Amino acid sequence: MVNKIRVYELAKLLKMSAKDLMEVLEKLGIEAKTHMSSIDVETAKLVEDMLKKEDASAPSKAAPAPQRAVRRVSVAKGATVAELAKALGVPVGDAVSKLVKASKMLSASDRADDEALLILGEAYGVELEWGDGASDQGGPAPSASPEDVRPERMVPRPPVVTVMGHVDHGKTTLLDTIRRTNRAAKEAGGITQHIGASLVEHGGRRIVFLDTPGHEAFTTLRARGAKVTDVAVLVVAADDGVMPQTEEAISHARAAGVPIVVAINKIDKPGVDVERVKRQLSERGLIPEEWGGDTVMVPVSAKTGKGVEELLEMILLVADMLELKADPHALPRGYIIESRLDKGRGPVGSVIVQHGTLRVGDVVLTSNTYAKVRSMLDDRGNYVKEAPPGTPVEVSGFEEVPVAGDTFVKVSSEREAKAILESKKEQTGEAVKPSRVRLEDLYRRLQEGEAKQLRLILKADTQGSLEAIESSIRKMARDEVGVEVVHKGIGNVSESDVMLAAASDAIVLGFNVQVEKAASRLAEDEGVDVRTYRIIYEMLDDVKAALEGLLEPERKEEVVGKAEIRAIFKLPKGGKVAGCYVLEGFARRNASVRVRRGKEILYEGRLASLKRFKDDVREVASGFECGMAFEGFQDFQEGDLVEFFVVSETRRTLG
Ligand code: GDP
Repeated sequence: MVNKIRVYELAKLLKMSAKDLMEVLEKLGIEAKTHMSSIDVETAKLVEDMLKKEDASAPSKAAPAPQRAVRRVSVAKGATVAELAKALGVPVGDAVSKLVKASKMLSASDRADDEALLILGEAYGVELEWGDGASDQGGPAPSASPEDVRPERMVPRPPVVTVMGHVDHGKTTLLDTIRRTNRAAKEAGGITQHIGASLVEHGGRRIVFLDTPGHEAFTTLRARGAKVTDVAVLVVAADDGVMPQTEEAISHARAAGVPIVVAINKIDKPGVDVERVKRQLSERGLIPEEWGGDTVMVPVSAKTGKGVEELLEMILLVADMLELKADPHALPRGYIIESRLDKGRGPVGSVIVQHGTLRVGDVVLTSNTYAKVRSMLDDRGNYVKEAPPGTPVEVSGFEEVPVAGDTFVKVSSEREAKAILESKKEQTGEAVKPSRVRLEDLYRRLQEGEAKQLRLILKADTQGSLEAIESSIRKMARDEVGVEVVHKGIGNVSESDVMLAAASDAIVLGFNVQVEKAASRLAEDEGVDVRTYRIIYEMLDDVKAALEGLLEPERKEEVVGKAEIRAIFKLPKGGKVAGCYVLEGFARRNASVRVRRGKEILYEGRLASLKRFKDDVREVASGFECGMAFEGFQDFQEGDLVEFFVVSETRRTLG
């Protein structure tokens, strides 16, 4: 252990970024999984020597072009480094680091000079030259509107962190300790305010912690579309070890592709065994980096504060790998992380700004409402006038309570916001259920490229059956279709399982378990396919059939009403309305309709309008008269019959 050094530490010593060092190591064939990995000091010395030699032998030849430059790219005089990178088709950060490595200190927004052109040209094996900007890349970069996110304006933003773990393992205590001792120094004073997230500081850098711990909250946001969290902190109590919700949290973070930093908590307790926790986590694929894995694990005591500073340090290091950036000058947009009706301030929404800078007076639009931002409250209870990227604030001025997990974006005016919401309402009529993947339509989705994999959440009554099911299903994967088990566990299908399925477009399969009431309600709302089986082969048959496209849904049509056309009215502006009498059931605005003349079907489609006297109505019951017009059909006559029907796709009845 003594003779080892972590990659990021070596990078610090060599005054280069950990990422660049990783590249160098890779080129040299030295294995290092992440910048948290350790390499032995001998190797480190070798690397240092090599880099020095390279430096000495002419800085601009640091990376000789491996082949003759075949590509010519010309850029307009006065182009910035970012524009140059764009013309080259390389990441801006990469170009900047190439320049810096060659001792050319330019940032993305700086203008490039001859030397920069030379360095980058060589680095990427391209002949770069000044010109009118026309290049083999298809001309100059189109000038982006000031509202777009522009790479050259990007600045680092703080990571957003969610704390997860089993109940009573110390999530709340850890959050409290972090907030108490590391509040962002900005304006002292003010009581910590619950606005959904807190800003803390470590070594002059900021981290945003979401106030509500737990993977349920995390996945609920994600299921609504908000990719808020950058890093997950998994709290595992050392005296208790890995528990069911620890495993759930791991699955949730993994499904979201969010890196995990483990906090092994309660190390102040006598006789706790940190190594045991590491072993348990390793069995679940989280291997500590000192054992050759890439998961950072920090022993902490949320109670005494021991290890908490190191935890923050590690969070920042893991976040560095993600290169989190935001454009503070773009059109303001971000996520609603919490919302509520405040007695004094009306509907409020806690938001995290993703790009742009949100200001008092801005109008922001969400999926269901809008706000003219009246005030913004930060986590210290201070009213602020503007919120740059990564700053959590509670916004007042909403017309209605916004939905947590929704995204927001600035629009030009309240009028625009209203118009967009109106037109949306018209299009959808009523709230539409999200369309998620179902076993029956998996094949179609696969064919159409909408799905690439069958994602599953498996729940079973015993470990044995769970393993049997998993291995049988995995065997069904073939070249074109992969099977991914997003999460597996023992016990009934819970809300958390359904949320995870919604967030990761997965199907829930239960064997010999029940679906909790709340979970089945949620599944209904979220359109998640949950299936339970009592016979293992029926489950496997269904999955196999779905993968082969043989599990077609059963389409069932139900006639909900019939009406007779009894009069025809010509409208003054053209067009015709059918005056009808509802014979049975209901005439429904949103149902499908079929117009029949005897046996002949004249039209199948939808209503353009349904009226009682002058009023638009949703429904007219039998025994009443109404007027209706059809979408794109007018050739009806008195005596024609109108049938109202709904089509439902039913799954096959299962065991
Ligand atoms: P949560 O359910 O994960 O949010 O857990 P809490 O933060 O509510 O903690 C559960 C219990 O563990 C409380 O009684 C805490 O005081 C206790 N606890 C939390 N962290 C520590 C710790 O580091 N050391 C000790 N000894 N107790 C802790």
